[in-house]
Amino acid sequence: MPVSDPVARPFDTPERKAFRESVERFVAREIAPHGDAWDEAGDFPWSLHEKAGALGLFGFGIDADHGGAGFDDAFMRLDAGTALGYAGVGGVNASLGSRNIMTGPIARLAREEVKRAVLPDIVSGRAGGALAMTEPSGGSDLARMKTRARRDGDDWVIDGEKTFITGGMKASWFVVGARTGREGFGGISLFLVPGDAPGFTRVAITRKMGWWSSDTATLHFDGCRIPGDAQLGEEGLCLLAIMDNFNYERLALAAGGLGMARRCLDDAVDWARVRETFGKPLIRHQVIRHKLAEMSARIDALDGYLQILAAAINTALEAGEPLPAAGLAKAKFLASGVAEYCASEAMQVLGGAGYLRGCAIERIYREVKVMAIGGGSEEIMRDLAARQMGL
Ligand SMILES: Cc1cc2nc3c(=O)[nH]c(=O)nc-3n(C[C@H](O)[C@H](O)[C@H](O)COP(=O)(O)OP(=O)(O)OC[C@H]3O[C@@H](n4cnc5c(N)ncnc54)[C@H](O)[C@@H]3O)c2cc1C
Repeated sequence: MPVSDPVARPFDTPERKAFRESVERFVAREIAPHGDAWDEAGDFPWSLHEKAGALGLFGFGIDADHGGAGFDDAFMRLDAGTALGYAGVGGVNASLGSRNIMTGPIARLAREEVKRAVLPDIVSGRAGGALAMTEPSGGSDLARMKTRARRDGDDWVIDGEKTFITGGMKASWFVVGARTGREGFGGISLFLVPGDAPGFTRVAITRKMGWWSSDTATLHFDGCRIPGDAQLGEEGLCLLAIMDNFNYERLALAAGGLGMARRCLDDAVDWARVRETFGKPLIRHQVIRHKLAEMSARIDALDGYLQILAAAINTALEAGEPLPAAGLAKAKFLASGVAEYCASEAMQVLGGAGYLRGCAIERIYREVKVMAIGGGSEEIMRDLAARQMGL
């Protein structure tokens, strides 16, 4: 049993255990052996999306009629995200997961015919999806979004630019935020844009610090014409739909951070057991043992917090109440902090071996940084948590 395994899973059920184990097997069989080569190649086969779809990784919170699971469970979301994070190939995780941050608004706001036409392909992994909110002028302050959509006869016409869009080169469908009215969040609407819409082009962002196997794009909307019914919900409802989406994105990123931190601890322990310095294994040196104990303590604390949070999310879902936004914001920055700490300490335990390309710790060390930025940066998450706490 890996050292990083949780001390207890008080909320486990046979269904959750079976799902978790199936995702862990999927990661071990389908991702781990290829992750490094895919990352170096900057790409991975589309068949992985379909295998992940068949496993049910994209169906939570989506009706069975629309190809989804027909139920939601925060523990299953958490376990899936943790197992994928443990693979230590963030780019694969990001490109698979980009659809999970755009199906929510479709499921919540699109007309029934649109849901039936679009969701099954995305949820099964046959088609890709991406969420396009961030613009070159900024991602934190979305209320100042500049991309505009205007009515032209029966159509909508979008002009503007989005950047850093995960899954953006391969996606067939995009949920795009654009201003249709007044300043601020209240004037922003969401649109469902097909990848082949006239006036829409995309350019790959290739020279990234990490997530090499993920397709990241800048999107250009140059008089991009889409049908009148492509608007998701009404103007101003964007905030409502997108906030829940952001909440789930934060849960997924926090889970991924936990998985990455666990991988760092396990790899550091494995190395410390076999590497000898000054006549004994590294693991017998007190300084190294203390590093491992500290990593383990932070991982356990994060794990415990995420389990409590998952229980709170499920309770909110059952009661039809808003998700615990403060808790999710705190989870996001706690997780990125723990992952960053563990990556740095693991690299130190591995020494030069950890610095080499091909070593999972080297990749995780580079990729923890985006966890502190994407999906709401650490600063914005702290600010949101404070506001939600009434401060
Ligand atoms: C690899 C990658 C993938 C991404 N994928 C997507 C995607 O799929 N879809 C999408 O829409 N976006 C995506 N993003 C964008 C991401 O969400 C933004 O990078 C993030 O929201 C921060 O926006 P920004 O980079 O424009 O930084 P800015 O908003 O310009 O902020 C810069 C820095 O200032 C800090 N800051 C800003 N305001 C404050 C404040 N009030 N107080 C204190 N500090 C502040 C921020 O925390 C940040 O550290 C991705 C980003 C990356 C790097």
